[in-house]
Amino acid sequence: MAVPRNRLSNARKNIRRSHHAKEAKNLVKCINCSSPKIPHCICQSCGAYGERVIINKEISGE
Ligand SMILES: [Zn+2]
Repeated sequence: MAVPRNRLSNARKNIRRSHHAKEAKNLVKCINCSSPKIPHCICQSCGAYGERVIINKEISGE
């Protein structure tokens, strides 16, 4: 296994970790119920994808 030759300074370590921050998720409005949802996914609150309702939440009772 490779072993580091020199100790990495705190500044070098922090420069590398400057790219590790979490980014905000991209959210779009649902056409059916206008709640925020992840694009290209079924809406979690009403079960619609695009204009069609895929999962009927009222019948399944969830
Ligand atoms: Zn919806």
